[in-house]
Order: sequence, then structure tokens, then C-alpha cells
Amino acid sequence: MAKEDYESVIGLEVHAELSTKTKIFCSCPSEFGGEPNTHCCPVCMGMPGALPVLNEKVVEYAVKAGLATNCTISKDSKNDRKNYFYPDTPKAYQISQYDKPLCENGYIEIDVGEEKKKIGLTRIHIEDDAGKLNHDDYGRGSLVDLNRAGVPLIEIVSEPDMRTVEDVDAYLKKLKSILQYIEVSDCKMEEGSLRADVNVSVRKKGAKEFGTRTEMKNMNSFKSITRAIEYEIGRQIEVIENGGEIEQETLRWDEVSGRTFSMRDKENAQDYRYFPEPDLAPIRLSEEYIENVKNNLPELPESRKARYLAEYKLTEKEARTLTNSKYLSDFFEASIDICGNPKAVCNWLLSDVARILNEKELEPDEIPFEPKDLAELIGLIEKGTISSKIAKDVLEKMFEENEVPSKIIEKNGWTQISDEGAIKAVVDKILAANPQSIIDYKAGKDKALGFLVGQAMKETKGKANPGMLNQMFKDAMK
Ligand code: ADP
Ligand code: ZN
Ligand code: MG
Repeated sequence: MAKEDYESVIGLEVHAELSTKTKIFCSCPSEFGGEPNTHCCPVCMGMPGALPVLNEKVVEYAVKAGLATNCTISKDSKNDRKNYFYPDTPKAYQISQYDKPLCENGYIEIDVGEEKKKIGLTRIHIEDDAGKLNHDDYGRGSLVDLNRAGVPLIEIVSEPDMRTVEDVDAYLKKLKSILQYIEVSDCKMEEGSLRADVNVSVRKKGAKEFGTRTEMKNMNSFKSITRAIEYEIGRQIEVIENGGEIEQETLRWDEVSGRTFSMRDKENAQDYRYFPEPDLAPIRLSEEYIENVKNNLPELPESRKARYLAEYKLTEKEARTLTNSKYLSDFFEASIDICGNPKAVCNWLLSDVARILNEKELEPDEIPFEPKDLAELIGLIEKGTISSKIAKDVLEKMFEENEVPSKIIEKNGWTQISDEGAIKAVVDKILAANPQSIIDYKAGKDKALGFLVGQAMKETKGKANPGMLNQMFKDAMK
């Protein structure tokens, strides 16, 4: 059978670090980084006898995430110990949630091409993060940094509802954007605040049963997730095609060699000996509490997108691209509040700004200027101070220099020439140098006009008002 006769099935377990000020069971800061072992206390260092106290904000953030992803919120939930030994976990257990998670049975809507799909969420639960092992720089052994130990996480477990890497990409982007909209996580993948365990299996098209899955843990970039899934699908099909069987195992993706390696198989699967955390009371939430969190949810990407379609007459694709990033769509709104031109702001953000971000490998929240600066640039084009061609150069400079557009234009002498006398002089000069074009134009070759305007633009380094040039050339050649 060929590759095309198989279908892949993918489910994700996504860990998101919550952006609460303090850790989940103590009052240490949960902030990223810091000198090793400076954000620690007896609780998060796992000292015997230290007692955890649940951070109320963590519950609130998890409930927010659950409501924003259409989950049912449990009124009766609890924490459990997940026991395992590893040097980054000084307690020798993680406090997670086993059989009574805070949120269950949700879904997220994704757009893949023209298609809309619903990806089911099995559950969202809260747990504490582990510390970090530093293997680098120290030839012998590893050093443990417990700053991250006890940072609150939510784990969002999806149903095995994804079928392609495009589904996975859309799902992760949507999830990330929802978490950013509700401001519970900054979702910085490069800082590890959003990481995914990726479960992959394949089956013959039309088969009812799922195939055996493998799991790749702790993936934290879109690119490696896509590559790893594609590799793993190929590998599994090959094993089956060669008459073999897929083993349920945990794999490690190696970015350099571009392949997966076995970490541990089912035989050696851990028994976590889950039991209820005896040092914490069950989490009981009232209807009123849940309603209150619900009523205070901000606008979510889906409804913002719908609003953009209706209010600003953007296309589906424009609205989707803008609202995918909370930062970008906040930027968009702040900018149109000032210049009042949604189409122009949208065009600039999605074409030139997006292109420069892409070239510089920057995220939207790294745009070095403010919404008011883009609004100013658009205003200057509308007023005729600069041509839209020059505006592109101004934008490039806005990424390089910490200056407002008007300053950049002034410094570079880029103000558009709209003085009639000055333009007339250029027109005369160009006409004198190109007699053949005049003959061509009079013979009905409109292209000649374009050529002349182009020459005049060249002469003025793009600063002449193009509308005036056009008119004056026409008048002169009548
Ligand atoms: P754990 O990894 O802790 O054992 P589960 O067995 O509940 O947890 O599964 C975890 C993830 O694996 C879920 O996201 C689920 O959607 C996904 N999954 C389960 N079965 C399959 C399968 N056959 N193929 C792909 N993904 C699967
Ligand atoms: Zn602490
Ligand atoms: Mg798992």
C-alpha cells in the first residue's frame, strides 16, 4: 500500500505556564529567568515538612482557560500526587490532577484552508512545573536550578482529533492566541512557557480503530513539531508496510539528525502511584464564582474576527490573520482610533510590516514603533506629504531608528514635491530629453506616459507628486 492509503491521527498535550505573579503553592515569584535558585523557598525546594498553599489565581486562570475553550468547569475538583524520581523535582512527586480535573469536555474551532474543524479537549488541569537541569558548561555532572520549580502550569489535553500537520499548526496557533487573549499565559515558546507532547499514530484510511501511538515530549517550536510529526508518520507507515508493528513508546525528536529516537517503551512505563494530595483541601467552586469568571472574560479571537468582518469590511483572511495575534489586532485597533482608516492600517500591517517582521524573524509584539506612528505615516500619505512609495522607505527606517515618521522624512529630505513650478520644471526637462515618447504618446501609445512619469520620478528620487506629474505631462503633450 502507498503512503496515500494511510491517515494519521494526532493528539496533543500542551503545557502552558501561567503568568501569575507567584508560584502555585508558595509566594515565590514565578517570573522567568533570574540567578539560579533565587526564586525559591522551602515549599518549592521540596523541604520535608513544608506545606503547600494553593494560589487562588491559578484556579481562576485555569477556569478562564476552560471557559474560553468551551469546557465544563468542575465544581468539585482536587489535587493529586504524581510520584516519580528525577533530580529536577525535589519533592519526588508532582502535584497534578488525576481523576478530577478542573475543566473537561471542551473544544476549539480551527480554520484549515476553507474548512472549519472542531478539535475536542479532553481536559484542562493544573499542576506545578519542575526545575531545570543545566548540563552545559560543567564538564562533570549537572546543576539544578529550582527557579522554575512550582511555576504554575495548565495542561490542555486534546482528543485525537487532528489528522494533518496543518490541523496541528492551526490548533496550536488558535490555542496560543486564546491563552494570550485571556491573558493567562504569555505563551513564549522560546522561553518554554508553551510546550507540547505530541502523540501520533497512523491507520489505513477507512479503519475504525486507531493505530498504536508514539509520543514525543516537550516540543517547543512550530517548526520542529511539524518536522517531527512528518517524520514520525513516515516512519510508522514504513514499519507497518514492512510487516512490523508500532510499539507504544516515548520518543525523543532530534532536530539535528531530523529523526526520532526511543526513550522508554511501554514495558518500562512509569507507574506514578497517583493518590490525593493530603496537604491540600479539595477545590470547591460555586456556580456564582464560575459565572463571575465567565462574565469577565474578554473578547475572544472568534468574536473579534466576526466584528472585524462586519465593522471594518475586512476579508475573512485579513480578519483571521490580524486577530490571530492579540498584539497585532490591538495594534490595529489603536492605530485606526487615531487615523480612522481601517483598510490602510490593515494593508500596511499585513503587507509591508508583515514582510519586514518576517525578514527580521520578529514576532508582532517586537514591532519597535507604536500604533500612533503607523497612523501618522498613513496620515502623511493621505495629506500628500509623502508618496506611498517613499512611505515604504520611511517604514523601513521606523524599524531601524527610534524616530517618528515626520522626523525621518525631515531628516532624509523626503517630503513630496507638490509645488507646481518645481514639477513643471521637471516635466519640461524630461520632455526635452525624450522627444520620441511625445510622438509615441500622440500616436496613442499610453505606455509612453508611464515611461515619462517614471523618468520624472527617477529624476526627483521618488519625491514628485505622481498625480500632478501625470496631469502636467498630459497637459504639456496635448
Ligand atoms: P497519557 O499520555 O498521559 O498516557 P492519554 O492516554 O490520555 O494520556 O493520551 C494522551 C494524548 O494522546 C491525548 O492528547 C490523546 O488525544 C492522544 N492519543 C490517544 N490515543 C491516540 C492515538 N491512537 N493516536 C494519536 N493520539 C492519541
Ligand atoms: Zn517557593
Ligand atoms: Mg502523555
